[in-house]
Amino acid sequence: LELSGLPKIDRIVDAPELAKVRRSLGRRALTALARQAVSDARERVRSGGQMPLWEEVLAEIERRAEARLRTGLAPVINATGVLLHTNLGRAPLPRASLENIARVAGRYSTLELDAELGERTRRGIQIELGLAELVSAEDTLLTNNNAAAVLLVLSALAAGKEVLVSRGELVEIGGGFRIPEVLARSGARLVEVGTTNRTRVEDYARAIGENTACLLRVHPSNFKISGFAERPTLAELARLAHERGIPLVKDLGGGLLVDLSGVVPGPDLAREPTVEACLAGGADLVCFSLDKLFGGPQGGVVAGRSELVRRLREDPLARALRVDKLTLAALEPLLDAYRRGALTEIPLFAFLLAPVTELRQRAESWRVRLGPFAERARVIESEAAIGGGTLAESPIASAALRIEVDAPDRLAAAMRRAEPAILARIDEDFVVLDARTVFPDQDDALVASLRRALGLSLEASPKP
Ligand SMILES: *Cc1c(COP(=O)(O)O)cnc(C)c1O
Repeated sequence: LELSGLPKIDRIVDAPELAKVRRSLGRRALTALARQAVSDARERVRSGGQMPLWEEVLAEIERRAEARLRTGLAPVINATGVLLHTNLGRAPLPRASLENIARVAGRYSTLELDAELGERTRRGIQIELGLAELVSAEDTLLTNNNAAAVLLVLSALAAGKEVLVSRGELVEIGGGFRIPEVLARSGARLVEVGTTNRTRVEDYARAIGENTACLLRVHPSNFKISGFAERPTLAELARLAHERGIPLVKDLGGGLLVDLSGVVPGPDLAREPTVEACLAGGADLVCFSLDKLFGGPQGGVVAGRSELVRRLREDPLARALRVDKLTLAALEPLLDAYRRGALTEIPLFAFLLAPVTELRQRAESWRVRLGPFAERARVIESEAAIGGGTLAESPIASAALRIEVDAPDRLAAAMRRAEPAILARIDEDFVVLDARTVFPDQDDALVASLRRALGLSLEASPKP
């Protein structure tokens, strides 16, 4: 067997043809790629394959280098119609948030300084007070995300004690967040109450003991129990908790601040409780996400009674879960938009509130500009969704461009690899681009990318 014909690693790394790769990836990464490519070639030769040409080895390394460079974060066009797409970064930020991040994060800032007094202050204090005002809470505390908020609450209030949770609420949210596991890690002991489909106030009442630290109510964000099902209202649960002198904690997830009933169609959206409603309903603490229905950066909030929030703040875990300055910079303009009631300055709500007629017109304008491919496309009615593990079954009327090709998977793949990438749905062998989640200023880029992808994927398909 003749393996000595394989190119030497040093020769590859120093090859003038790879100067560009060397500059963009660096020698160390290029050496690793070269080793990998040569080792793969050796395997192929050993199992009877051809000795690759020098040019082939270099081409293979260039291909791998490109793939490596592509794996960084890149903006994409979200034509899936899913507003809070966890794989696509959930909520896009308002322009004012981006400007504030640029203004604050590129320089030193007053992150923990009261410039007036020249004294140290608590980071995020202004945002926490602002949030408290917006949701009518005595106090709030910011964390790195809602999973952290829930962990902190359980750890600070219930470590070494018992937490009562309905068996119908022992849920997995996604991304590895499971209520029983988070509870176990906090050091609290889970006491299961009721059954999967039915839990009553009396079930909680019977389970309360000397060692009960709190009742935990978990919002069913991403699933529904229907049929022979029942659970107490929040107010009923609050009454029981307060009679017994223990706090009621609600993990709300979504983090909706404004009542959407009457604003958007869809029964579930209208029924989604606001943070304020949960507090008014008797929850002592409410935990929620900032990048779900709040429409902001990744973050979590615990809102509620100041004496409890103070206990969280004093817990050593609080320091480990604290919020970053970029998040605070993003939040400032968001709070301002909420205060002014300027919902459409928040992209999530701009998308949610866009009239279907407008979306239909935009989808039609995409179709017309497809040129030679326009005859393959039709504007159709569509259903968008909130997503992000919220409001599982609440479709939002929308409009979409439906494209007919022989190989929809191949077109979708070409769209994902386009520059910029377009993410779409495949419905019954059609590629469907929903207009509700596409920013109007992405329309030109969408048409250009889509035309290129259509050209490529049709070229590659066998002629009938
Ligand atoms: C989404 C969600 C979480 C997790 O929130 P993150 O901000 O993603 O960490 C926890 N609980 C509920 C009920 C949720 O919906």
